[in-house]
Amino acid sequence: MTPTFLVNPNANCSYNFLSSTVMASCSTFCPRIPNNFRVPPISSFPSKPLLSLSFKAFSCQASDASSQDKFSGQVGFLGLGIMGSPMAQNLIKAGCDVTVWNRTKNKCDPLISLGAKYRSSPEEVAANCDVTFAMLADPESAIDVACGKNGALSGMGPGKGYVDISTVDGATSKMINGHIKATGALFLEAPVSGSKKPAEDGQLIFLTAGDRSLYDSVAPLLDILGKSRFYLGEVGNGAAMKLVVNMIMGSMMASFSEGLLLSKKVGLDPNVLVEVVAQGAISAPMYSVKGPSMVKSQYPTAFPLKHQQKDLRLALGLAESVSQSTPIAAAANELYKVAKSYGLSDEDFSAVIEALKAKSHDSA
Ligand code: NAP
Repeated sequence: MTPTFLVNPNANCSYNFLSSTVMASCSTFCPRIPNNFRVPPISSFPSKPLLSLSFKAFSCQASDASSQDKFSGQVGFLGLGIMGSPMAQNLIKAGCDVTVWNRTKNKCDPLISLGAKYRSSPEEVAANCDVTFAMLADPESAIDVACGKNGALSGMGPGKGYVDISTVDGATSKMINGHIKATGALFLEAPVSGSKKPAEDGQLIFLTAGDRSLYDSVAPLLDILGKSRFYLGEVGNGAAMKLVVNMIMGSMMASFSEGLLLSKKVGLDPNVLVEVVAQGAISAPMYSVKGPSMVKSQYPTAFPLKHQQKDLRLALGLAESVSQSTPIAAAANELYKVAKSYGLSDEDFSAVIEALKAKSHDSA
Protein backbone atom coordinates (compact mmCIF):
# COMPACT_ATOMS: atom_id res chain seq x y z
CA MET A 1 0.00 0.00 0.00
CA THR A 2 1.31 3.43 -0.84
CA PRO A 3 0.99 5.60 2.23
CA THR A 4 -0.48 9.05 1.76
CA PHE A 5 -1.04 12.01 3.98
CA LEU A 6 -4.49 13.25 4.72
CA VAL A 7 -5.09 16.42 2.76
CA ASN A 8 -6.75 19.41 4.26
CA PRO A 9 -8.40 21.05 1.27
CA ASN A 10 -9.14 24.18 3.26
CA ALA A 11 -5.59 24.95 4.26
CA ASN A 12 -3.46 27.49 2.45
CA CYS A 13 -0.88 25.14 1.09
CA SER A 14 -1.04 22.00 -0.96
CA TYR A 15 1.52 19.25 -0.89
CA ASN A 16 2.92 16.47 -2.97
CA PHE A 17 1.30 13.11 -2.94
CA LEU A 18 3.63 10.67 -1.20
CA SER A 19 5.28 8.62 -3.88
CA SER A 20 6.66 5.19 -3.16
CA THR A 21 9.88 6.01 -5.00
CA VAL A 22 12.82 5.45 -2.72
CA MET A 23 16.31 6.41 -3.87
CA ALA A 24 18.02 4.99 -0.86
CA SER A 25 21.56 5.10 -2.14
CA CYS A 26 21.81 8.57 -3.55
CA SER A 27 22.57 12.00 -2.28
CA THR A 28 20.67 14.96 -3.60
CA PHE A 29 21.41 18.56 -2.82
CA CYS A 30 18.63 21.06 -3.36
CA PRO A 31 19.35 24.68 -2.67
CA ARG A 32 16.17 26.71 -2.49
CA ILE A 33 17.10 29.10 -5.29
CA PRO A 34 18.11 27.90 -7.80
CA ASN A 35 17.15 24.28 -7.35
CA ASN A 36 19.33 22.66 -9.97
CA PHE A 37 22.71 22.99 -8.29
CA ARG A 38 24.92 19.98 -8.83
CA VAL A 39 27.10 18.74 -5.99
CA PRO A 40 30.53 17.60 -7.12
CA PRO A 41 31.19 14.02 -6.11
CA ILE A 42 33.75 13.65 -3.33
CA SER A 43 36.48 11.86 -5.24
CA SER A 44 39.65 12.42 -3.21
CA PHE A 45 38.61 10.36 -0.19
CA PRO A 46 39.73 6.77 0.45
CA SER A 47 37.87 4.49 -1.92
CA LYS A 48 36.61 2.25 0.91
CA PRO A 49 33.11 3.46 1.80
CA LEU A 50 32.60 4.36 5.45
CA LEU A 51 29.40 3.22 7.12
CA SER A 52 27.90 2.47 3.73
CA LEU A 53 27.73 6.22 3.12
CA SER A 54 27.21 7.05 -0.50
CA PHE A 55 28.17 10.51 -1.71
CA LYS A 56 27.02 9.94 -5.25
CA ALA A 57 25.33 13.20 -6.06
CA PHE A 58 22.42 13.97 -8.30
CA SER A 59 21.05 17.32 -9.26
CA CYS A 60 17.45 18.02 -8.37
CA GLN A 61 15.03 16.19 -10.63
CA ALA A 62 11.78 17.60 -11.84
CA SER A 63 10.08 15.15 -9.50
CA ASP A 64 11.72 16.81 -6.50
CA ALA A 65 9.34 18.94 -4.55
CA SER A 66 10.45 22.55 -4.59
CA SER A 67 9.33 25.85 -3.17
CA GLN A 68 6.72 26.02 -5.88
CA ASP A 69 4.89 23.08 -4.29
CA LYS A 70 2.98 23.60 -1.10
CA PHE A 71 2.01 21.54 1.89
CA SER A 72 -1.50 21.62 3.22
CA GLY A 73 -1.46 18.94 5.89
CA GLN A 74 -1.45 19.53 9.62
CA VAL A 75 2.07 20.10 10.89
CA GLY A 76 3.13 19.14 14.42
CA PHE A 77 6.17 20.65 16.11
CA LEU A 78 7.75 19.15 19.24
CA GLY A 79 10.53 21.05 21.03
CA LEU A 80 10.50 24.83 21.13
CA GLY A 81 14.01 25.73 22.22
CA ILE A 82 16.41 28.17 20.58
CA MET A 83 15.97 26.47 17.21
CA GLY A 84 12.49 24.98 17.41
CA SER A 85 10.69 28.21 18.32
CA PRO A 86 11.77 30.30 15.31
CA MET A 87 11.29 27.32 13.00
CA ALA A 88 7.72 26.74 14.19
CA GLN A 89 7.13 30.48 13.95
CA ASN A 90 8.27 30.55 10.32
CA LEU A 91 5.89 27.72 9.46
CA ILE A 92 3.00 29.59 11.06
CA LYS A 93 3.93 32.82 9.27
CA ALA A 94 4.01 30.91 5.98
CA GLY A 95 0.39 29.91 6.55
CA CYS A 96 0.87 26.34 7.72
CA ASP A 97 -1.54 24.75 10.15
CA VAL A 98 0.80 24.13 13.10
CA THR A 99 0.25 22.30 16.39
CA VAL A 100 2.95 22.66 19.05
CA TRP A 101 4.13 20.93 22.21
CA ASN A 102 7.07 21.63 24.48
CA ARG A 103 8.10 20.05 27.79
CA THR A 104 8.08 23.50 29.39
CA LYS A 105 4.62 24.60 28.39
CA ASN A 106 5.09 28.37 28.58
CA LYS A 107 7.44 28.28 25.58
CA CYS A 108 4.33 27.39 23.53
CA ASP A 109 2.54 30.59 24.47
CA PRO A 110 4.14 32.99 21.92
CA LEU A 111 3.38 30.49 19.16
CA ILE A 112 -0.18 30.01 20.32
CA SER A 113 -0.52 33.80 20.13
CA LEU A 114 0.60 33.60 16.51
CA GLY A 115 -2.12 31.05 15.73
CA ALA A 116 -0.63 27.68 16.63
CA LYS A 117 -2.79 24.98 18.17
CA TYR A 118 -1.57 23.32 21.37
CA ARG A 119 -1.69 19.69 22.45
CA SER A 120 -0.58 18.44 25.81
CA SER A 121 1.64 15.53 24.71
CA PRO A 122 3.75 14.42 21.75
CA GLU A 123 1.26 11.57 21.30
CA GLU A 124 -1.64 13.97 20.85
CA VAL A 125 0.32 16.14 18.44
CA ALA A 126 1.26 13.15 16.30
CA ALA A 127 -2.28 11.77 16.40
CA ASN A 128 -3.69 15.05 15.14
CA CYS A 129 -1.07 15.91 12.53
CA ASP A 130 -0.01 14.53 9.16
CA VAL A 131 3.65 15.23 9.69
CA THR A 132 5.38 15.88 13.01
CA PHE A 133 8.74 17.62 13.39
CA ALA A 134 10.88 17.10 16.51
CA MET A 135 13.69 19.46 17.55
CA LEU A 136 15.05 18.08 20.82
CA ALA A 137 18.23 18.65 22.76
CA ASP A 138 20.04 15.33 22.50
CA PRO A 139 19.66 11.57 21.90
CA GLU A 140 18.02 10.98 25.28
CA SER A 141 15.31 13.61 24.80
CA ALA A 142 14.78 12.64 21.15
CA ILE A 143 14.13 9.03 22.22
CA ASP A 144 11.98 10.07 25.14
CA VAL A 145 9.74 12.37 23.10
CA ALA A 146 9.42 9.87 20.26
CA CYS A 147 9.20 6.58 22.15
CA GLY A 148 8.59 7.39 25.83
CA LYS A 149 5.33 7.57 27.78
CA ASN A 150 2.78 9.59 25.76
CA GLY A 151 5.46 9.84 23.09
CA ALA A 152 4.83 10.61 19.44
CA LEU A 153 5.03 6.93 18.57
CA SER A 154 1.63 6.25 20.14
CA GLY A 155 0.04 8.77 17.80
CA MET A 156 1.76 7.63 14.62
CA GLY A 157 0.36 5.31 11.96
CA PRO A 158 0.02 4.75 8.21
CA GLY A 159 -0.22 7.97 6.21
CA LYS A 160 1.76 9.97 8.74
CA GLY A 161 5.36 11.12 8.83
CA TYR A 162 7.89 11.88 11.58
CA VAL A 163 10.78 14.24 10.84
CA ASP A 164 13.47 14.35 13.51
CA ILE A 165 15.58 17.47 13.12
CA SER A 166 17.45 17.10 16.42
CA THR A 167 21.21 16.48 16.29
CA VAL A 168 21.65 12.88 17.42
CA ASP A 169 23.89 9.94 16.58
CA GLY A 170 23.05 7.44 13.86
CA ALA A 171 22.19 4.65 16.29
CA THR A 172 19.58 6.82 18.00
CA SER A 173 18.13 7.88 14.68
CA LYS A 174 17.94 4.29 13.45
CA MET A 175 16.25 3.22 16.65
CA ILE A 176 13.59 5.92 16.38
CA ASN A 177 13.19 5.10 12.68
CA GLY A 178 12.58 1.44 13.51
CA HIS A 179 9.85 2.25 16.02
CA ILE A 180 8.16 4.81 13.78
CA LYS A 181 8.23 2.50 10.75
CA ALA A 182 6.70 -0.29 12.83
CA THR A 183 3.54 1.82 13.16
CA GLY A 184 3.26 2.08 9.37
CA ALA A 185 4.38 5.72 9.34
CA LEU A 186 7.35 7.17 7.47
CA PHE A 187 10.54 8.58 8.97
CA LEU A 188 13.05 11.21 7.92
CA GLU A 189 16.08 12.35 9.88
CA ALA A 190 16.82 15.97 9.02
CA PRO A 191 19.36 17.63 11.32
CA VAL A 192 20.19 21.19 10.39
CA SER A 193 23.34 23.16 9.81
CA GLY A 194 22.91 26.79 10.82
CA SER A 195 22.18 28.44 14.13
CA LYS A 196 19.66 30.76 15.79
CA LYS A 197 19.83 33.55 13.18
CA PRO A 198 19.57 31.24 10.14
CA ALA A 199 16.64 29.54 11.93
CA GLU A 200 14.96 32.94 12.33
CA ASP A 201 15.72 33.90 8.74
CA GLY A 202 14.64 30.58 7.17
CA GLN A 203 18.21 29.97 6.02
CA LEU A 204 18.98 26.56 7.50
CA ILE A 205 20.66 23.71 5.63
CA PHE A 206 18.88 20.36 5.97
CA LEU A 207 20.90 17.13 6.02
CA THR A 208 18.20 14.55 5.44
CA ALA A 209 18.06 10.79 5.13
CA GLY A 210 15.35 8.15 5.33
CA ASP A 211 12.09 7.76 3.46
CA ARG A 212 12.49 9.48 0.13
CA SER A 213 8.74 9.87 -0.34
CA LEU A 214 8.49 11.70 3.00
CA TYR A 215 11.42 13.88 1.96
CA ASP A 216 9.57 14.80 -1.23
CA SER A 217 6.36 15.50 0.66
CA VAL A 218 7.90 17.78 3.27
CA ALA A 219 10.26 19.54 0.85
CA PRO A 220 7.95 22.60 0.68
CA LEU A 221 8.17 22.86 4.47
CA LEU A 222 11.95 22.44 4.45
CA ASP A 223 12.08 25.22 1.88
CA ILE A 224 10.19 27.54 4.23
CA LEU A 225 12.70 26.80 6.96
CA GLY A 226 15.92 26.56 5.02
CA LYS A 227 17.98 27.70 2.07
CA SER A 228 19.08 24.26 0.94
CA ARG A 229 18.53 20.58 1.57
CA PHE A 230 20.55 17.46 0.97
CA TYR A 231 19.04 14.01 0.66
CA LEU A 232 21.74 11.55 1.76
CA GLY A 233 20.11 8.14 1.47
CA GLU A 234 19.66 5.74 4.34
CA VAL A 235 18.93 6.72 7.94
CA GLY A 236 22.15 7.49 9.79
CA ASN A 237 23.77 9.37 6.92
CA GLY A 238 22.13 12.68 7.87
CA ALA A 239 23.21 12.27 11.48
CA ALA A 240 26.74 11.37 10.40
CA MET A 241 27.02 14.37 8.09
CA LYS A 242 25.79 16.70 10.83
CA LEU A 243 28.26 15.30 13.36
CA VAL A 244 31.18 15.66 10.97
CA VAL A 245 30.21 19.29 10.29
CA ASN A 246 29.91 20.09 13.99
CA MET A 247 33.14 18.25 14.79
CA ILE A 248 34.93 20.59 12.39
CA MET A 249 33.14 23.59 13.85
CA GLY A 250 34.00 22.70 17.45
CA SER A 251 37.69 22.36 16.59
CA MET A 252 37.64 25.62 14.62
CA MET A 253 36.19 27.52 17.57
CA ALA A 254 38.71 26.03 20.00
CA SER A 255 41.58 26.95 17.70
CA PHE A 256 40.21 30.48 17.15
CA SER A 257 40.00 30.89 20.93
CA GLU A 258 43.66 29.99 21.31
CA GLY A 259 44.59 32.50 18.62
CA LEU A 260 42.61 35.33 20.25
CA LEU A 261 44.27 34.72 23.62
CA LEU A 262 47.75 34.30 22.16
CA SER A 263 47.45 37.52 20.16
CA LYS A 264 46.48 39.42 23.29
CA LYS A 265 49.27 37.91 25.37
CA VAL A 266 51.94 38.98 22.86
CA GLY A 267 50.61 42.52 22.86
CA LEU A 268 48.45 42.44 19.73
CA ASP A 269 44.91 43.73 19.55
CA PRO A 270 42.65 40.68 19.17
CA ASN A 271 40.10 42.87 17.38
CA VAL A 272 42.69 43.41 14.67
CA LEU A 273 43.28 39.65 14.52
CA VAL A 274 39.55 39.19 13.86
CA GLU A 275 39.84 41.66 10.97
CA VAL A 276 42.96 40.02 9.57
CA VAL A 277 41.35 36.58 9.68
CA ALA A 278 38.26 37.94 7.96
CA GLN A 279 40.34 39.15 5.01
CA GLY A 280 42.11 35.91 4.25
CA ALA A 281 41.61 32.34 3.15
CA ILE A 282 40.76 31.14 6.66
CA SER A 283 37.91 33.59 7.02
CA ALA A 284 34.61 32.17 8.21
CA PRO A 285 31.38 33.95 9.06
CA MET A 286 31.55 32.30 12.48
CA TYR A 287 34.78 34.15 13.33
CA SER A 288 33.45 37.51 12.19
CA VAL A 289 30.16 37.06 14.03
CA LYS A 290 31.52 35.66 17.29
CA GLY A 291 34.99 37.24 17.41
CA PRO A 292 34.08 40.78 18.52
CA SER A 293 31.93 39.58 21.42
CA MET A 294 34.50 36.96 22.44
CA VAL A 295 37.06 39.77 22.75
CA LYS A 296 34.62 41.45 25.15
CA SER A 297 34.10 38.16 27.03
CA GLN A 298 30.45 38.13 26.00
CA TYR A 299 28.75 34.95 24.84
CA PRO A 300 25.09 35.55 23.91
CA THR A 301 23.74 32.07 23.38
CA ALA A 302 22.97 31.00 19.83
CA PHE A 303 24.40 27.47 20.06
CA PRO A 304 24.64 26.27 23.67
CA LEU A 305 28.10 25.03 24.64
CA LYS A 306 26.59 21.84 26.11
CA HIS A 307 25.23 20.95 22.66
CA GLN A 308 28.60 21.55 21.00
CA GLN A 309 30.25 19.22 23.51
CA LYS A 310 27.49 16.66 22.94
CA ASP A 311 28.14 16.81 19.19
CA LEU A 312 31.90 16.39 19.67
CA ARG A 313 31.26 13.42 21.94
CA LEU A 314 28.96 11.83 19.37
CA ALA A 315 31.37 12.62 16.52
CA LEU A 316 34.20 10.96 18.43
CA GLY A 317 31.98 7.90 18.84
CA LEU A 318 31.33 7.91 15.10
CA ALA A 319 35.07 8.14 14.41
CA GLU A 320 35.75 5.35 16.88
CA SER A 321 33.21 3.13 15.12
CA VAL A 322 35.27 3.22 11.93
CA SER A 323 38.74 3.49 13.57
CA GLN A 324 39.27 6.98 12.17
CA SER A 325 41.85 9.01 14.08
CA THR A 326 40.51 12.42 15.21
CA PRO A 327 43.09 13.84 17.66
CA ILE A 328 42.19 17.50 17.05
CA ALA A 329 38.52 16.90 17.79
CA ALA A 330 39.44 14.83 20.86
CA ALA A 331 41.53 17.71 22.23
CA ALA A 332 38.77 20.21 21.48
CA ASN A 333 36.25 17.97 23.25
CA GLU A 334 38.36 18.06 26.41
CA LEU A 335 38.32 21.85 26.32
CA TYR A 336 34.52 21.97 26.04
CA LYS A 337 34.30 19.55 28.96
CA VAL A 338 36.44 21.91 31.03
CA ALA A 339 34.19 24.81 30.00
CA LYS A 340 31.14 22.81 31.10
CA SER A 341 32.78 22.14 34.45
CA TYR A 342 33.10 25.92 34.88
CA GLY A 343 29.31 26.26 34.59
CA LEU A 344 29.32 27.48 30.99
CA SER A 345 26.96 24.82 29.57
CA ASP A 346 24.18 27.23 28.69
CA GLU A 347 26.46 29.98 27.37
CA ASP A 348 27.22 30.13 23.66
CA PHE A 349 29.83 27.60 22.55
CA SER A 350 32.25 30.48 21.92
CA ALA A 351 32.56 30.63 25.74
CA VAL A 352 35.00 27.73 25.32
CA ILE A 353 37.64 30.48 25.31
CA GLU A 354 37.00 30.86 29.05
CA ALA A 355 38.37 27.36 29.61
CA LEU A 356 41.66 28.48 28.08
CA LYS A 357 41.72 31.64 30.17
CA ALA A 358 41.21 29.56 33.28
CA LYS A 359 43.99 27.21 32.14
CA SER A 360 46.32 30.19 31.70
CA HIS A 361 45.50 31.39 35.21
CA ASP A 362 46.03 27.90 36.64
CA SER A 363 49.48 27.63 35.13
CA ALA A 364 50.48 31.24 35.93
P1 NAP B 1 17.63 24.14 23.35
O1 NAP B 1 17.34 25.59 23.25
O2 NAP B 1 18.42 23.64 24.51
O3 NAP B 1 16.24 23.37 23.26
C1 NAP B 1 16.17 22.00 23.54
C2 NAP B 1 14.74 21.53 23.44
O4 NAP B 1 14.72 20.16 23.86
C3 NAP B 1 13.76 22.29 24.32
O5 NAP B 1 12.53 22.36 23.67
C4 NAP B 1 13.69 21.40 25.55
O6 NAP B 1 12.51 21.55 26.30
C5 NAP B 1 13.73 20.05 24.89
N1 NAP B 1 14.10 18.99 25.82
C6 NAP B 1 15.29 18.83 26.44
N2 NAP B 1 15.27 17.72 27.21
C7 NAP B 1 14.04 17.20 27.09
C8 NAP B 1 13.40 16.04 27.62
N3 NAP B 1 14.04 15.19 28.44
N4 NAP B 1 12.13 15.80 27.27
C9 NAP B 1 11.47 16.64 26.45
N5 NAP B 1 12.02 17.74 25.89
C10 NAP B 1 13.29 18.01 26.20
O7 NAP B 1 18.43 23.61 22.08
P2 NAP B 1 18.47 24.14 20.60
O8 NAP B 1 19.61 25.07 20.45
O9 NAP B 1 17.11 24.56 20.16
O10 NAP B 1 18.91 22.80 19.85
C11 NAP B 1 18.01 21.75 19.61
C12 NAP B 1 18.73 20.69 18.81
O11 NAP B 1 19.22 21.27 17.59
C13 NAP B 1 19.96 20.10 19.49
O12 NAP B 1 20.08 18.76 19.13
C14 NAP B 1 21.11 20.92 18.92
O13 NAP B 1 22.33 20.21 18.97
C15 NAP B 1 20.63 21.14 17.51
N6 NAP B 1 21.12 22.34 16.84
C16 NAP B 1 21.24 23.53 17.51
C17 NAP B 1 21.72 24.64 16.84
C18 NAP B 1 21.89 25.97 17.51
O14 NAP B 1 22.65 26.80 16.98
N7 NAP B 1 21.25 26.25 18.65
C19 NAP B 1 22.04 24.55 15.48
C20 NAP B 1 21.87 23.33 14.82
C21 NAP B 1 21.41 22.23 15.51
P3 NAP B 1 12.42 22.61 27.51
O15 NAP B 1 12.10 23.93 26.86
O16 NAP B 1 11.35 22.10 28.37
O17 NAP B 1 13.77 22.62 28.18
